[in-house]
Amino acid sequence: MGSESDMERILFSESDIAKRVSDLAAEISADLSSGADGVVFVGVATGAFLFIADLVRRIHAPITIDFIRAESYGSGTESCGEVRISCDLKVDVTGKHVVLVEDIVDTGKTLSHLISYLKKKGVSSVSVCALLDKPSRRKVEVKLVGSGKFYSGFECPDYFVVGYGMDYAELYRNLPYVGILKSEMYTK
Ligand code: 5GP
Ligand code: MG
Repeated sequence: MGSESDMERILFSESDIAKRVSDLAAEISADLSSGADGVVFVGVATGAFLFIADLVRRIHAPITIDFIRAESYGSGTESCGEVRISCDLKVDVTGKHVVLVEDIVDTGKTLSHLISYLKKKGVSSVSVCALLDKPSRRKVEVKLVGSGKFYSGFECPDYFVVGYGMDYAELYRNLPYVGILKSEMYTK
């Protein structure tokens, strides 16, 4: 349990991810250099921890980094819909440009909740940088704030995926690639 033999197949390899993260960092850096200061990268814990670590080390600008924790999933593979912020920011984001870094956007409920939460805190803008996007599963439109942009790493087919930060029952987060979990791993 927790290893490569639990995968149906690998969807994005370690080198696929490294290349895409580097391109995303270049794109974001170019946008940052066009004026914005006071940029805060906010990782959505725990799933975004590897992604944000790899992303920010390629951003050559004075940024701050923080984490926020939102709970919506139990230990299954389907969201329960309710989103709750269970660990708040340390950094004051009032008047700041926030880049919300997320592992995957599925129904969009988690991100929408986080964005309205940040908006209430008086941020100047909210961008989203998601490693994976499952647009076919979207239930709510993700509305950015101010000059915010949506950056997405890869479009993800409608499978339950794990690795590179993403878990099933808190396992598989340390895998360096994104893979499709064998369905017998969560149906037995
Ligand atoms: P949403 O609120 O957009 O439905 O779901 C967002 C959260 O659900 C993601 O941040 C992620 O934690 C979790 N999630 C959605 N799809 C997957 C998936 O295929 N695999 C894993 N491990 N988590 C997922
Ligand atoms: Mg997440």
